Amino acid sequence: MNEPACTECRAIAQEILDAYREAWDLGSEAFREAWAARNRLIGGTEQDVFRAEEAFAKVQPSSSARIGDALHRLLVHRARTGHRLRGRR
Ligand SMILES: [Zn+2]
Repeated sequence: MNEPACTECRAIAQEILDAYREAWDLGSEAFREAWAARNRLIGGTEQDVFRAEEAFAKVQPSSSARIGDALHRLLVHRARTGHRLRGRR
């Protein structure tokens, strides 16, 4: 029903979906890793603290870069053409 007619809109919508899916996969793996490092802190050492911080620091940038690019592409395309991906207002 709200399928975008423009091929660029469709491509951007697909890219955003893919980016979110990828971020979710990467994120959950990174979170698992961070969580495991965090659990080792129980009776842990200073090294474990650094390892946990390192793992948590990795979670954010790796999960958002591609989404940021896709959203930027959407905004540029919308500014240029006035197209909107969603029919809702
Ligand atoms: Zn378009």
